[in-house]
Amino acid sequence: MINKKHAKAVKVEDCELVRRLVSRVAHNPQSGCWHWIGYKDSKGYGQLRWGNRMHWVHRLSYAAFVGPIGDKLQIDHTCCNPSCLNPKHLEAVTPAENRKRQSKRAHYERGDDDVPI
Ligand SMILES: [Zn+2]
Repeated sequence: MINKKHAKAVKVEDCELVRRLVSRVAHNPQSGCWHWIGYKDSKGYGQLRWGNRMHWVHRLSYAAFVGPIGDKLQIDHTCCNPSCLNPKHLEAVTPAENRKRQSKRAHYERGDDDVPI
């Protein structure tokens, strides 16, 4: 189980952490996605053990390459690829905004009406 409180406490400026993140990535030149090739949970989100705890790699990547994640914000994959950790494909959003986007994408994937993403 991932503890968000501890994920925030990770010192992302740590070079060893960045090295471990980028060493387990497969780049997709078409999509630009950085696919995590390490451990993934049942939903396809990459995880990395760091400091005796598991962390979501997309949150670590955002914090390392973009900046601190605001309180209570979630990281949305704008590319809809849960295993991606390309910081250019990650956006910090409120839980409400994240749910709204996920709902729109689910409608789109099911082929319901033409719901804009
Ligand atoms: Zn991506």
